[in-house]
Amino acid sequence: MSNIRSGNLGFPRIGENREWKKAIEAFWAGKIQENELHQQLEAIRLGNLKLQKDKGIEIIPVNDFTYYDHILDTASMFGVIPDRFSYQGGEVPLSTYYGIARGNREAAASEMTKWFNTNYHYIVPELSGITPQLTVNRPLAAYREAKEKLGIEGRPVLVGLYTFLKLSKGYDSAKLQDVIDSFLPLYLRVLKELEEEGVKWVQIDEPILVTSVNEQDLKYIQTIYEAINQELTTLSIQLQTYFGSVEFYPEVAALPVQGIGLDFVHDEGRNLEALRQHGFPQEKTLGAGVIDGRNIWRADLDAQSSLLSEIVQLVKGAEVIVQPSSSLLHVPVTARTETKLEPVLKNALAFAEEKLNELVLLTKQASGEQVASEFQVSREALSALSASPARNRENVRSLVDHIADQPSHREHNFSIRQVAQEKKWKLPFLPTTTIGSFPQTTEIRAARQKWRKGEWSSSQYGEFVKEQIRDWISKQEEIGIDVLVHGEFERTDMVEFFGEKLAGFAFTSGGWVQSYGSRCVKPPIIYGDVDFIEPMTVEETVYAQSLTKKPVKGMLTGPITILNWSFVRSDLSRENVSYQIALALRKEVEALEHAGIEMIQVDEPALREGLPLKRADWNNYLNWAVLAFRLSTSTVRDTTQIHTHMCYCEFHDIIDSITALDADVISIETSRSHGELVHSFEEHTYPLGIGLGVYDIHSPRVPSVDEMVSMIERALQVLDPKLFWINPDCGLKTRGVQETVDSLRNMVAAAEKFREAH
Ligand code: GLN
Ligand code: ZN
Repeated sequence: MSNIRSGNLGFPRIGENREWKKAIEAFWAGKIQENELHQQLEAIRLGNLKLQKDKGIEIIPVNDFTYYDHILDTASMFGVIPDRFSYQGGEVPLSTYYGIARGNREAAASEMTKWFNTNYHYIVPELSGITPQLTVNRPLAAYREAKEKLGIEGRPVLVGLYTFLKLSKGYDSAKLQDVIDSFLPLYLRVLKELEEEGVKWVQIDEPILVTSVNEQDLKYIQTIYEAINQELTTLSIQLQTYFGSVEFYPEVAALPVQGIGLDFVHDEGRNLEALRQHGFPQEKTLGAGVIDGRNIWRADLDAQSSLLSEIVQLVKGAEVIVQPSSSLLHVPVTARTETKLEPVLKNALAFAEEKLNELVLLTKQASGEQVASEFQVSREALSALSASPARNRENVRSLVDHIADQPSHREHNFSIRQVAQEKKWKLPFLPTTTIGSFPQTTEIRAARQKWRKGEWSSSQYGEFVKEQIRDWISKQEEIGIDVLVHGEFERTDMVEFFGEKLAGFAFTSGGWVQSYGSRCVKPPIIYGDVDFIEPMTVEETVYAQSLTKKPVKGMLTGPITILNWSFVRSDLSRENVSYQIALALRKEVEALEHAGIEMIQVDEPALREGLPLKRADWNNYLNWAVLAFRLSTSTVRDTTQIHTHMCYCEFHDIIDSITALDADVISIETSRSHGELVHSFEEHTYPLGIGLGVYDIHSPRVPSVDEMVSMIERALQVLDPKLFWINPDCGLKTRGVQETVDSLRNMVAAAEKFREAH
C-alpha cells in the first residue's frame, strides 16, 4: 500500500554530545563569536536532518530547531518583544533574543513555564502593548536551507496560532478575538510565502486541543482555520496534536485542513475510540502517533503494528503517516553510545535515533515489506527485559498487588497527634526551620568529583561530608534555628541520590534531554521493580543529631517526585510504580524513626507537575499520588512529625489533596506569589501545620527583618498562629554561604520579634 508513509514531528536539538548546549554557552561566555555560533548550530541542525533522511524517514520536519526555545522563536518572528527591551523593529538581534530568555543589563527575563505536561520549559510571550509584525519567515528559511544544502524537501513546522496565543500572557481574554485578528494576517502571510515557494505541506502544532478546551475555544479555532483555508490553494495543512486525546474529536476532524495528527500513545485509548465511533474523513491524511515520543523504551512492535492496522482500516483508504506521538524533543538523542548499561536494559532502549528506525519498520511492515527479523530482534529484547530478575521482585509485586492491605493512615488523626507532638517537642511559638539543603559550594562539588573519580576513598569523602555537617550544625545553633537539618551535602540531586541507592533504577551516561534553554537534565530510568536495599540517609542524619540537642529533621524525596522526574518503565502503570517507590521509602522512614530521627520531611515538589492535562483526569491522579505519599509516611508513631515541602504557590485548586497528604507540617514557596497564596487561605482553611516561605531563595539578596515580619503578619491574618512555622521558600543549595547565614539570622530575628510581641 503506497498510502502509508513514515514521518517525524521534531528532533532533539541538543546534539549527540550536547554540542548545542556547549556552543550556546560558549557564545554567552564570549568564548565564541556569533558567526561561529551560527556555524556550529547549523552543523547540528543539518546533521539531524541528514540522519532522518538516512534512516529513511519520508516526512522530515524543518524549523523544529531553535537557538533557545521554539515559543520564543515564534514570538520573535511576530515581533513580540517586551517593551522593556529596546527594539526598533525588523529582525530580532540575537542579543535581544537571549535577553528575553535570560535577562540582561537592560531588563529582566520573561517568565518561563512548563510546556504542557513535559519537563520542557518555554518562554512565556508577553503581548501587552505589542503591535505584531512579521520580522522573518523562519519556516521558509528552514525549508530553503534543507532543500539547498541537503536536497531535502522538508515539512515546515509552525506553532499553531491558537496554542501560541493561549500560552501567551498580557492580554484580556475577553478580547482574544482582537488579539487573533491582529496576528492572523501575519500568520497567513507566513503560510502564503511558503505556498509561493512551492511548499506542499506544513505541520501546524496545536497541542492546546488536548487540554480542557471549551466550545468558545473551538469557535476561535474554527475561525482561524477557515481563514487559513481561504488564503491557501496549493499548500496543505497537517494540524498536529499531541500529549493526549483531542477534545471535540468530530469537530476537530471536520476542520478545513488537509490532515490531522493524533497521539495514539498517551491518549488512554480515547483517540482510537473516537476513530471507531466517528470514523475519519477519507479525503484527509491521518498522522498516526504510534511510537512513544515521551519515553525511552523500544516499542512493542507487534502491538503497535496491530494498532496501526486497526487505524488503517478505520480510516478507510485515507492516507496515513506513521509518526511519533509527539516531537522527539523529549527523549535523548541516541542509545547507541550507552556502553555501561546492563545489556538487557540497553537492548530495550529506544531514544530518538532508534525511534526513527521503529517508525520506518512499522511503515514497511504496514506496506507489506519483509521485516520479520527486525521484529524478532525487538521482541527478544523486550522479552529479555521483562523476564529479567530486576523486573520480577516477587516481594515487591505481591505487596503492590494488595496495596489496599498496606497501612495508609496514621494511627490517630492530626488533632491527637498535635497534642502528642507539642508535648514531645516543646517547640517555641512560631518555630523556625529550613527546607533541607545548604550551599553546595565549589569545594563540596570538587570533593564529590574526587571521590567519583576514585582520587578520594569513600571514607575520605565521608569524613569531608561530616565536616560540612559539623560546620552547619554549629552555624544553625549559633543562628538560633529551632529545627535543624544536616544540609544534604552528600547529594547532587534530589532523585539521583535515592535512585542510586534503591533497586530498580539505572543511570545513562548520555541520556540528556533539554529542560529549558541550554539546561539539560539526565533523568534516572526506573526499569525494574523498586526496592529498598539498605538505609540511605540514616548515617548522615544520625551523625548530625549526635552533635546537637535540638531536633534534626530527616530529609527524603517523596514517591511522586521521584516518579515524575524519572523515565518510568511502561509495562506497569505509573500508579503501580509510585506504590513501589512509596513502600521502599517507607522503610527509610521507619529506619530513621528507629534510629531516633523523629521529624522527617518527605519532599514533593513535583506533585503538581504530574497533573494530567485534562481537568477531568485530575482526581484519579491526585488520589493515587496522595495514597503513595501516605503509604510512605503513615506507619510512624503519633509523636513522630512528618513534614513535606512543595516549591510552588498555586495551591488553591489542589488544596483538598494537599490536606489529604495528612503531613503534620507543610512548607511551601510563597514569597514570589505577591500575597496570592495568603489570599487563597481566606477561602480555604488549612487545618495542619504550615510554613509559608518568608523569603525568596532564588536571589542572593539578603531580606530585611522587617520584610519578613510583614510577610509573617500577613500570613497570620489567615492562618492559625499555633500551626505556623517560619522558613525560607526552598532549599538553599544554590546560595552563597554568607548570604545564607545573614538571611537566616534575619529570619530568626523576625520570628523573635513576633514572639516578644505575642
Ligand atoms: N530538601 C530539598 C532542598 O532543600 C528540597 C528541594 C526542592 O524542593 N526542590 O534542596
Ligand atoms: Zn522547594
